[in-house]
Amino acid sequence: MENTTMIDKASEALKQYFGYDSFKSLQGEIINHIMEGNDALVLMPTGGGKSVCFQIPAIVMDGICIVISPLIALMKDQVDGLKANGVRAGFINSSQSGKEQSYVEMQAISGELDILYVSPEKMLTSSFIQTMSRLEINLFAIDEAHCISSWGHDFRPEYTKLRYLKEQFPNVPLVALTATADKLTRQDIIDRLNVDNCETFLASFDRPNLSLTVLPGRNRLQVIQEFIKERPGESGIIYCLSRRSTEDLTAKLQASGIDADFYHAGMSSLERTTTQESFIKDKTQIVCATIAFGMGIDKSNIRWVIHYNLPQNIEGYYQEIGRAGRDGLPSDTLLFYSYGDVKIFRDMFSESPLRDIKLQKLDRILQFAESFNCRRNILLNYFGENPKTTCGKCDVCKNPPNHFDGTVTCQKVLSCVARLRESEAMGMVVDVLRGSGRKEVFLKGYQNVKTYGIGREISIFDWQQYIAQMTNLGLLEIAYDQNSALRLTEASKAVLFENKKVDLVQLTSIKKRIEEQKKKSKPKSKTQQVKDDLFEKLRQLRKELANKEGIPPYLVFTDATLTEMVDFKPTSLMALRKVSGVGEYKLEKYGDEFAMLIRNFVLGKGKEGTVIKGATYLKTYELFQKGLNPDKIAKERELTVTTIFSHFVTLFNNGYEIDLMQFISEEEMNLIKQARSKVQNESSLKDIFAQLGEKVPYHKIRIASVLLDHDAGK
Ligand code: ADP
Ligand code: ZN
Repeated sequence: MENTTMIDKASEALKQYFGYDSFKSLQGEIINHIMEGNDALVLMPTGGGKSVCFQIPAIVMDGICIVISPLIALMKDQVDGLKANGVRAGFINSSQSGKEQSYVEMQAISGELDILYVSPEKMLTSSFIQTMSRLEINLFAIDEAHCISSWGHDFRPEYTKLRYLKEQFPNVPLVALTATADKLTRQDIIDRLNVDNCETFLASFDRPNLSLTVLPGRNRLQVIQEFIKERPGESGIIYCLSRRSTEDLTAKLQASGIDADFYHAGMSSLERTTTQESFIKDKTQIVCATIAFGMGIDKSNIRWVIHYNLPQNIEGYYQEIGRAGRDGLPSDTLLFYSYGDVKIFRDMFSESPLRDIKLQKLDRILQFAESFNCRRNILLNYFGENPKTTCGKCDVCKNPPNHFDGTVTCQKVLSCVARLRESEAMGMVVDVLRGSGRKEVFLKGYQNVKTYGIGREISIFDWQQYIAQMTNLGLLEIAYDQNSALRLTEASKAVLFENKKVDLVQLTSIKKRIEEQKKKSKPKSKTQQVKDDLFEKLRQLRKELANKEGIPPYLVFTDATLTEMVDFKPTSLMALRKVSGVGEYKLEKYGDEFAMLIRNFVLGKGKEGTVIKGATYLKTYELFQKGLNPDKIAKERELTVTTIFSHFVTLFNNGYEIDLMQFISEEEMNLIKQARSKVQNESSLKDIFAQLGEKVPYHKIRIASVLLDHDAGK
């Protein structure tokens, strides 16, 4: 096949089966490379779009693609997802009866499948090897390829036998895919799969649609409740450290009327499956879980992830937050941390043979949590990327730190630590600084220490924050092996004895971050309300259709696809076909129902819930979309231009994408704004018209008023 026709075919298949207009990041290059018969190692973050990299070649090339995946629980969803797009796919694993397995094998042999998922165990049975010899295999895809490496965090011994593939099928291209990017694991995968000439495709690990926020672990429950209230109906996961706390938190959330359930490895497998299924199918909104939850989940519409406790390391954290927003829509993440968490991990790691590495990684994530640099950049730097700009949407970017001369503050702490003979942990140091009357303080005679009570004016929380900063600046060390006692360092001596200046970050920025989480967002504009309304209706329809078929709703259409429907309001099959994520098969299957819902919505519901004569607005909208200007539309429709403008306003108020700004200059806008502020009743267009000396046409006043109301959130 010619190069160009090959990639053209791939693009066509992308649109036809998946409904996407173009390839994301490296997909196009990878697919081309594979279809030319080469091997590849693909490193992309979760949600990066790895699946398409092997699914498209599988569909386009003659023969069948064998996908090896360790996640048996996920296989059915993946195959259901492919089938929902009209792709001929099947799977074989130990969850099926022997009969079912033979049936799928027969399908493969008789050429009825383009993609076959198998577990690594199954792959290496003699019966399957026999089957493979009868297949025209066009590609091997090894998903979750890090499982082959003992360096990775999820080593599976049976994966190591997969080197057999390249030995037996040297001419069949092989692609290994993973979201784990560290260098050791990468090389290990190549070595162990025996693919020397393999090209590595490394995508950026940036997930620009995720917002990152980190908070000290105070008032967690209250912050979480507010957070959830602001996000009605949105799917989310709350990761907790212990099984107990998943259950406790669930109970508290349920008590406040929140739809949550829990998940941990101590539950029976039936209980776990039930919770997971219910979450995937949008029947349970929130799951409080240990990190046992998530591996087998492909749900693309998880809108947020909260860490109730500090994660063990940055890799784990990134993987867990990565489960949010796979569909590319904006999604939020929130991490709480405390020294209590650090202590628990330290104790937990103390017996581990990998103790030192684990402690180092724990230090790195604590540094991340306490840092005052752009969060995203710290993470990307950790993964070896060096972004040039800050993200602008993490908590630090939104509340940049202000510094002050903290020399005296630091000296107070350091001198107190010295007088307590470097033998006390942060809690006691703060108590002494604040002159606490606690029994333990007096038992040890600390009320006689010179620094007792020299820091009463600063709250416990604030002292903790300053001490954390000092630790990060290397002014204090925590002796974890000695009850976490605070110790002086070389650097601290210069501050204590030589008056070396230290800059600290003002705590107002941290407090602002906390407040921001609790703050209610602005009231929604009318346009937004209408959009939300339609989205909700589409979501309900999606759920009904999914329930009928017994598949998760996101397999019908993703949130991203529904959002596009809300923005463009396709009322015909032809218009629907243009929406990203609507392939031919789904168009045929679901198109009518979605188009009808949107049509009814558009026709039936006006601004105040009154019925508007929808057809006339739609007609105007169609012409506008074709690129006609208001004059032309008026001529075509034999209506006045003023009427057309009033249509625009109604359409805008009903959530249509019409940029009204283009019809009014900034100067006019300002004039009208001023006039509005002078009249008694600002909603009377007539009064404004008079105020402007009857010089500005009505339709402009109307447009300006709508835009001004819109900005004010009315
Ligand atoms: P990964 O396996 O890397 O986590 P997926 O293959 O599940 O990622 O893809 C993540 C999401 O992106 C899915 O919802 C998928 O349908 C979507 N997607 C993949 N490729 C494209 C594309 N070219 N255009 C738009 N969306 C895409
Ligand atoms: Zn940032």
